[in-house]
Amino acid sequence: MPEPRDVSFPLIFERSRPGRRGPRPPAPGADAAGELAGWLGEDQLRRRPPRLPEVSELDLVRHFTQLAHRQVSIDGNVYPLGSCTMKYNPKVHEEAARLFQDLHPNQAPETAQGILQLLYELQRDLAALTGMDAVTLQPAAGAHGELAGILMIRAYHEARGEGEQRRVVLVPDGAHGTNPATASMSGYTVVEVPSGRDGEVDLDAFTRALGPEVAAVMLTNPNTVGVFETRILEISRRAHEAGAQLYYDGANLNAIVGRVRPGDMGFDVVHLNLHKTFTTPHGGGGPGTGPVGVKAHLRDFLPVPLVVEHDGVYRLSEDVASSIGRMRSGVGNVGNLVRAYAYIRTLGLEGLRRVSALAVLNANYLRVRMKEAGYDIAFDRTNMHEFVARPPEGVRTLDIAKALLDYGMHPMTVYFPLIVREAMMVEPTETESLETLDAYADALTEILARAAADPEYLAGAPYHTPVRRLDEVRAARQPVLRHRFDDAD
Ligand SMILES: *Cc1c(COP(=O)(O)O)cnc(C)c1O
Repeated sequence: MPEPRDVSFPLIFERSRPGRRGPRPPAPGADAAGELAGWLGEDQLRRRPPRLPEVSELDLVRHFTQLAHRQVSIDGNVYPLGSCTMKYNPKVHEEAARLFQDLHPNQAPETAQGILQLLYELQRDLAALTGMDAVTLQPAAGAHGELAGILMIRAYHEARGEGEQRRVVLVPDGAHGTNPATASMSGYTVVEVPSGRDGEVDLDAFTRALGPEVAAVMLTNPNTVGVFETRILEISRRAHEAGAQLYYDGANLNAIVGRVRPGDMGFDVVHLNLHKTFTTPHGGGGPGTGPVGVKAHLRDFLPVPLVVEHDGVYRLSEDVASSIGRMRSGVGNVGNLVRAYAYIRTLGLEGLRRVSALAVLNANYLRVRMKEAGYDIAFDRTNMHEFVARPPEGVRTLDIAKALLDYGMHPMTVYFPLIVREAMMVEPTETESLETLDAYADALTEILARAAADPEYLAGAPYHTPVRRLDEVRAARQPVLRHRFDDAD
């Protein structure tokens, strides 16, 4: 069993020395302090300086840099997180986003024609790529896009006098948790549709679940086990015959971008995760972006504002007959919209086709290598951009995930989807090289061999990380985010 390695470094509070400091800004004059007291009230003023570490600027910079290096990140490590499409974020996009950083959301449109044109063209490009008739850029994440989409579907049924009758949303059993959450937040009852043995929606069970009470069917294609729903046109026909609307969860668009369009499969509403398919930064609490596209019959329900053009002049329009309203302030997360625009324009349609081709190729390569290494493949057929595996009998997925950290590799998505026991959901992005894929497969192979040779090894992993096995629930629910002094203060 490997010896745990001590990788700790002194905390900033331990580096503190009285009187040591970085650059000192000019002190406020007595007048300013008096004025502040006048505004806030004397009792709000500090009597003693805060207990902050006293360190030089260099020590401070090193502290944060070392913390940042402890992070497993896309820029530092392979990160094949299934369903999440952890795409590389091209650095030139940062430059592009910075071009617009001085704009204000409320500035006069005649002084912001450039960004309005960009947003208008992005609405158009996303509509073209998804096969939809109109797009809103407002929603701030995939889940937020789902909410916008389902609220539009609800408004559509209400406008047709079927709002009372249609109370149910159908969701497959493999669906991402946001799908049922969105449906129930929008006031619907969720009914689960089982998957068949081939990983696709069970068509008979689906048909039995349809009826005059169904408002919408939420699907993703390829679905969460990386299988393309080959009967999608039949599903779409039956859903529409029953008067339901078909909702496309676009989180898996990376598998088909530039090749197959949800609109052509019969979907009425689509959300996209720009932070998945279109390379805007992902995770870390940063802003996501979840534009929504709709077919023409839902156009009148779109959230406002939309970017419109007339005689070469661009402006924001609130003129949407039965709009569901605003989803947030402004037009959307503009920095991300600029990054997505830059990505689409850089690659063009040919480049986007290459993205989906390589995403699928990479995932199939890794599936075969994992199978050769002794992992079980849940639906063992040619997959799309991701697949679900599980470790051999007697080995736990959680332990494999922990062991990968010692190799400087981020684990795959674990224990999702719920329909596969000990699920390991792997999605290598299209930008990963053959060498990186091989290194990941080699690590997964070696971990099984080490586990077989030394039964204790897996239970103790990871050995080389700053902290080893955490109480993950407590770490998430009761995080300790600040230094505690020994004396209570
Ligand atoms: C990521 C994801 C979502 C939710 O998107 P967020 O941007 O995280 O809100 C929905 N469905 C699927 C399948 C996803 O992978």
